[in-house]
Amino acid sequence: MKTMTTSGGAPIADNQNSATAGPRGPVMMQDYQLIEKLAHQNRERIPERVVHAKGWGAYGTLTVTEDISKYTRAEIFSKVGKQTPLLTRFSTVAGELGAADAERDVRGFSIKFYTEEGNWDLVGNNTPVFFIRDPLKFPDFIRTQKRHPKTNLRSTTAMWDFWSLSPESLHQVTILMSDRGIPKTPMQMNGYGSHTFSFYNTDGERFWVKFHFKTQQGHAHYTNAEGAELIGQTRESYQEELFGAIERGEHPKWTMYVQIMPEADADKTSYNPFDLTKVWPHSEYPLIKVGEMELNRNADNYFAEIEQAAFSPSNVVPGIGFSPDKVLQGRLFAYADAHRYRIGTHYEALPVNAPKCPVHHYHKDGSMRFFQNDTGNPDAYYEPNSVGGPSQDESYREPPLTVTGDIDRHNHRDGNDDYVQPRALFELFDAGQRERLFSNIAAAMGGVPDEIVQRQLAHFEKIHPDYAQGVADALGVTLLR
Ligand code: NDP
Repeated sequence: MKTMTTSGGAPIADNQNSATAGPRGPVMMQDYQLIEKLAHQNRERIPERVVHAKGWGAYGTLTVTEDISKYTRAEIFSKVGKQTPLLTRFSTVAGELGAADAERDVRGFSIKFYTEEGNWDLVGNNTPVFFIRDPLKFPDFIRTQKRHPKTNLRSTTAMWDFWSLSPESLHQVTILMSDRGIPKTPMQMNGYGSHTFSFYNTDGERFWVKFHFKTQQGHAHYTNAEGAELIGQTRESYQEELFGAIERGEHPKWTMYVQIMPEADADKTSYNPFDLTKVWPHSEYPLIKVGEMELNRNADNYFAEIEQAAFSPSNVVPGIGFSPDKVLQGRLFAYADAHRYRIGTHYEALPVNAPKCPVHHYHKDGSMRFFQNDTGNPDAYYEPNSVGGPSQDESYREPPLTVTGDIDRHNHRDGNDDYVQPRALFELFDAGQRERLFSNIAAAMGGVPDEIVQRQLAHFEKIHPDYAQGVADALGVTLLR
């Protein structure tokens, strides 16, 4: 049996009794084992994520089954049959760390691919779009999803006030309130990179790209009533289902697809292809199969490997680039910033976040500096240097991303239709799906003032008259036309 030690490595003779002056106490200041134990417990929490706090994850593999190397030079897609290890983390958006899993919410769908050219993080959702198209709106939007400062309760009024004043949210609100708003398990939902990214190939040609992961387990969802009943029995249904399936050797799979848009097409589409509230219709940009993602290993330590897993869309690799998507640009800053704050400066050196390829940077001190720079020479601690330290490699230069325009606070609502794509989705729904959409929205609008309800109904009317009428009927209110 191993001997228990202090964190300093000293063997512990008694872990049952504090050191006291006599059997009735008091305890001694010199009982550093007691002090260390109490002090460690005080430090067991790190700040929870402001969004996506409650999560579930697992390790797995991406296997490339089709050749897409004409679009990207990324090593991960370099040949059919290539396998890349990965980590996923799924999450709800609004709920806190102790929130119930089976709540109606968008689900985060993040993947960290440990490639030979560095980590590529695809930090997406189970929906192809989002509520906003300008990152300046993000803190306000999230505020409406969180607790009211006075009541400390979530406020349906705040949610619908913001949404009804932000018609760009209609597409995502329709998805959220549809059957897909409460997936039964993380295995039974799709994943989307959501943003438009770019690919560039060895010839320096750029393509715009969207990423899709389609579940092979089939879609399955709870109704509001089923979700509420389940939450009454367990708040941890996703952890139970995902962890349990992988322990039993039932490895969930997703088929990976891309949509590819030639660079010049971006000026020709009727919608802004960099608008996060829009999809690219499949009829215009069909899904191109890439490979298969399988999850096959649970983490050994949830906190170390899932809670401290740090995904950032800024982690791209050669062959994958960004786009003018405004919300993507905002997230490129916000995600890594959040991790430096909540985990520490060198969070990417933690085993779960560390690349599996060599890392040679010149960043220096800071919290959790527990690794060597590995520059091959102790004198190489700045760059450029004359001692052969790591230096840049021109062969990885990304082709220029050409964007023109006046710097201004351009109105993000000008020239953007907010109704056509929600209408396309609404028209996909059969009668039963529509009824459930109406009743889910009505349930979510409980207590919302009439003025806000009518403002929202006017938006639904512009999507489809049946949409507005259906919600009005479910609410039992008269639609003011
Ligand atoms: P298609 O008929 O080619 O595709 C419809 C898409 O809708 C499928 O990807 C399907 O996913 C998905 N879908 C079905 N029900 C729901 C739901 N309740 N919530 C979210 N997605 C759902 O249509 P288009 O490409 O012309 O797009 C029409 C509408 O479909 C869009 O306006 C958008 O709302 C939605 N959609 C489109 C996507 C795209 O990338 N083009 C992606 C996802 C949704 P699945 O195949 O897994 O069943």
